[in-house]
Amino acid sequence: MLQAEIKSLLKEDISILIKVPNSAKHYVCDCGEASLLTVKEAQAISAIFISHTHIDHFSNFDGIFRHQIGSGEKVVICGPRNIHQQIEARLKSYTWNLIDENAIEYEIREIVSKEEINVYTIRPPYWNLEYVKTQNVLFEDEYVNVDFAILDHKTDSIAYLFKEKDSVTFHENISDFKNGKWISELKTAFENNDPDKEIEIEGTLYKALGLFHLLTRNEGYKLGVIMDHAADEDNYKKIKDVFNHADMVYIETFYKDEDQEFAKMNHHSFASASGKIMKECNVKEAIPIHFSRRYTENDQQEIETAFYKAFRN
Ligand SMILES: [Zn+2]
Ligand SMILES: [Zn+2]
Repeated sequence: MLQAEIKSLLKEDISILIKVPNSAKHYVCDCGEASLLTVKEAQAISAIFISHTHIDHFSNFDGIFRHQIGSGEKVVICGPRNIHQQIEARLKSYTWNLIDENAIEYEIREIVSKEEINVYTIRPPYWNLEYVKTQNVLFEDEYVNVDFAILDHKTDSIAYLFKEKDSVTFHENISDFKNGKWISELKTAFENNDPDKEIEIEGTLYKALGLFHLLTRNEGYKLGVIMDHAADEDNYKKIKDVFNHADMVYIETFYKDEDQEFAKMNHHSFASASGKIMKECNVKEAIPIHFSRRYTENDQQEIETAFYKAFRN
């Protein structure tokens, strides 16, 4: 099951690390100050997901690439409109005369709309952008698919949903056969929806369909990260489209209810509004994140109380 860890302390900006089980790979959502992010973790990040480039979400991008450069790996960066130019500007602001051209490669995916994602690559030492293609899928690797919503925060703010791939369980206790390589053949037929596939067990051929009762499909865990957004109906409609029935969602809750006028002014959310939309989305668990830096620990508790009251009520 995907595991998220908040790497920022109270009064720091926001950065959430997502760890993939049984894999050395991590993803990171936003690059705010993150005292708890270790060098080893930064080096294991294979994809960076940026909601928007307000400084509190983007300032530690340098801190992360500082540890990644030299890895020789390809790292994907997903983000809103113009993210490619902002990454380019950041990378070009340093001197790279001692860096090899294979030190790293970034593949940047600029989210223009739900159907239009522009892909660019950029590499040292000159960091000139190269346009590769336009595609309609944001991100997929061997572990997850990533869906998203483009929310309004007076600028695009991308909310991401990480969907672990479904898995298939074999129920040995109800099988009359000896285990063997036929189990993985059967699983493949099941995953490919191929009931006519012939499976050989102990010298006899069986139709896959007749063996499917030995398997069950486990739906992959769904983990969401919703950063800065205005607490309004347009955003809520988009959030419901993508995050309905998610297992766990981290959601921006910048203000206390008593400061909701500021939320409105700054296109942010507040405690009971974030809790309520999570309830309406039928998510199993939700966690409020990214509080105003002027808040104390008591304010944070107040936010959490109002949030969970609206979420669980
Ligand atoms: Zn913001
Ligand atoms: Zn913010």
